[in-house]
Amino acid sequence: MNHEQLKKTLRSLPSKGADWIGLKKITSKIKFHSVKNGLPLSNKIYQDEGVQIEVLKNGQFAYSSTQDTSPNGIKLAYEKALFLAESSSKYPIFPFTRETRPQFKNQPSPHDFNQTTSGEIHDVLSLSCDSIKKEKGLIHSEGYAALKETETYHIGLGDEEFYSSKNTIDFSLKAIAQEGTEVQTRTWGNTLQAGPEYFQKELFKKEATRIAKEARELSFAEQCPSEKMDLLLMPDQMILQIHESIGHPLELDRILGDERNYAGQSFVKLSDFGNYQYGSKALNVTFDPTVEKEVASYKMDDTGHMATKEFIIKEGKLLRGLGSLESQLRSNVPGVACGRVSSWNRPPIDRMANLNLEPGEGNFEEMVSSMERGVIMATNKSWSIDDYRNKFQFGCEYAKLVENGRITKTLRNPNYRGISTPFWHSLKEVGSLPTREIFGTAYCGKGEPNQAIEVGHASSVCLFNGIEVFGGV
Ligand SMILES: [Zn+2]
Repeated sequence: MNHEQLKKTLRSLPSKGADWIGLKKITSKIKFHSVKNGLPLSNKIYQDEGVQIEVLKNGQFAYSSTQDTSPNGIKLAYEKALFLAESSSKYPIFPFTRETRPQFKNQPSPHDFNQTTSGEIHDVLSLSCDSIKKEKGLIHSEGYAALKETETYHIGLGDEEFYSSKNTIDFSLKAIAQEGTEVQTRTWGNTLQAGPEYFQKELFKKEATRIAKEARELSFAEQCPSEKMDLLLMPDQMILQIHESIGHPLELDRILGDERNYAGQSFVKLSDFGNYQYGSKALNVTFDPTVEKEVASYKMDDTGHMATKEFIIKEGKLLRGLGSLESQLRSNVPGVACGRVSSWNRPPIDRMANLNLEPGEGNFEEMVSSMERGVIMATNKSWSIDDYRNKFQFGCEYAKLVENGRITKTLRNPNYRGISTPFWHSLKEVGSLPTREIFGTAYCGKGEPNQAIEVGHASSVCLFNGIEVFGGV
């Protein structure tokens, strides 16, 4: 069904006292390729399309979805959503009004997605595996690439209309080295807003060679010592630190209790916003939907709220929550445009989207030379954090020991632990823009039923003082 037919179908729905009706058609196509030890493992295409109907009646929102995109299929879904709104309005949590769905408009224009063959992507992954296996002691190589194309067409009964399209990629390479009984793994991957043009042979060959060498290096390395010391985290570990100990605890729906059964709650209270010192003055965190290539950049969220860059934490002080218009009204806390759906068959909930740590002024070499005794850690390997997103323990793939301001040796199995706000208070220095990198993940999970969604994090290198570091497995 094309856009004009969808608009006509929406207008033909009997209002039956509904205050607002929205319709969202989401079409996605994923090409997935994987290679193990240079041999093709999987080449698949997944296609998905459906329509979500949203109804506001008697102050309650309700949703229904269908893959039957005929006028009759949409009408049946609408009647189901209407029934749910009417039924739930007998037990209201909050009386919402039409203002919770702002006016939105843009000019729909078809998007031409780049074409690429499965063979081209397979060649890049296969070449990466070959580069890994060239390194001595490397016993395993693998890689995958998922290329996703998504189109969203969102219309409302008040003449709202918005079309968006995006290309995202999610990929990873893995190198495993063995020396005696010691087995070590290095990975490289990312989730970005990009297309097939990202899969350049030279780039993948270079990174595959690097992780192979580092995996080999780790198989001979000393165990990470266990002591309290300085910790310098590289951007590919900082993203997990930001995600788990800033992003999730600041989601307003978690604080309101919506996620208590599944994803958990938060140590942060509604009364903390506007006055709580979350970390040191070096900590500046933004919700930023404007960063090019970052995976959760967008103009409008899935509730029709236009997205703008906002400081969540400024000079360590907590200013805003990660909450949609609905959560903002319920909590009376300022939020951001972050009501998002993972698919046409999931309702919008509060997501962190792009949550970035703003650059400081630190120079990498000077930050290292300021460390009397410490560890540099890169790339997340394991994570554990409680339901309130407070006490955590994270492990990394790769580390370097710093003694008297100089990098002296490679360390294997590095870990560290902490408690969210004391940890952020120990943030001494943030690296400048040249040390900043953009990362993302496609697998942030939340909501019942589960919604796995893409989130982006950008960060510079960060130096923390007096952290409990320990060797693990
Ligand atoms: Zn998550």
